[in-house]
Amino acid sequence: MKAARLHQYGKPFQIDDIPTPEVKGGETLVKVAASYVCSSDIGLVKRERPWAKLPVIPGHNVTGIIDDIGPEVSDFKKGDMVAVYGAWGCGVCRLCRQGDEQLCDPKKWVGFGPDGGYAEYLHVPAQRHLIKIDDLNPYEVAPLLDAGLTAYRAIKQSLPLLYPGAAISILGVGNIGYYAVQIAKLLSPQAKVIAVDVLQERLGLAAKLGSDYQILTDSSAAEDIRGISGVGGVQVIIDTVGSNATLAMAAQTAGKRSSIAVVGLSGGSIPKLPGECSVASSIWGTLSEMKELLRLYSDGKIKCDIKRFPIDSINEVFQLMATKQIQEQAVITP
Ligand SMILES: [Zn+2]
Ligand SMILES: [Zn+2]
Repeated sequence: MKAARLHQYGKPFQIDDIPTPEVKGGETLVKVAASYVCSSDIGLVKRERPWAKLPVIPGHNVTGIIDDIGPEVSDFKKGDMVAVYGAWGCGVCRLCRQGDEQLCDPKKWVGFGPDGGYAEYLHVPAQRHLIKIDDLNPYEVAPLLDAGLTAYRAIKQSLPLLYPGAAISILGVGNIGYYAVQIAKLLSPQAKVIAVDVLQERLGLAAKLGSDYQILTDSSAAEDIRGISGVGGVQVIIDTVGSNATLAMAAQTAGKRSSIAVVGLSGGSIPKLPGECSVASSIWGTLSEMKELLRLYSDGKIKCDIKRFPIDSINEVFQLMATKQIQEQAVITP
């Protein structure tokens, strides 16, 4: 099969022809339809997550058709259209048992240790990682598995703070922010949704997706956000960037007893915070949350905006992503 493999950190992918994996026991083989390109894969290439034994096939957000099953697979059959839940855990620790497999060992995540989905086929070791998606659009589902799910979990966990009239700000309208704006409005329609970004065009997009206010990051941004939220400040802040600049903005605009969910991985440090403001690093999402989000998508409540690329252009896609030249969500379609 054709696969994009990373042989050396910091170097381009090589397109290799390697043996197609075989299945036994409870394993399945998925013929990949789409693999969403996540910014954490850019971090992987840059050696920010040097866990995988090289060469490795990255790609942790995969949809496709089941091509082969082992004899112990009972819940799926050849030809089923599936999404692969990518946060593979050990399956037996306390966190995995309570459904928080994304909080188990990230070295086990598909594409970070085991080979991932930038290939024609993906080997899936256990059927518990699969979700049937039937006639949903597999290209649009791929980014929901990551950017969508990350936004969904962060907002769902913050819902108790979003009373009618409360304010929620989304810092950064990149891929996670694209979904966060929609999900905030859907799950908490009575709250004021404030989109914040450094790019005017992204704020235009946020307005189309349902944000009530759009704030360009400039010297008066914090004051503008305070003006919208009122003296109490913002109750929920979803920081999709996580840099020193966005965390400073979060601290300046957060109200007392508010929550800042940091989902961006830029490594900024937490400044002094208002009273009882809590900071949580929300990580990805559970398989149940994935199903809930897919329900919203299949009901037509969530929009996606994808751009498809063949596997041979993977290096070009990474270059475009790194220089922020793709506004859509990029998916590789082997
Ligand atoms: Zn990711
Ligand atoms: Zn575990």
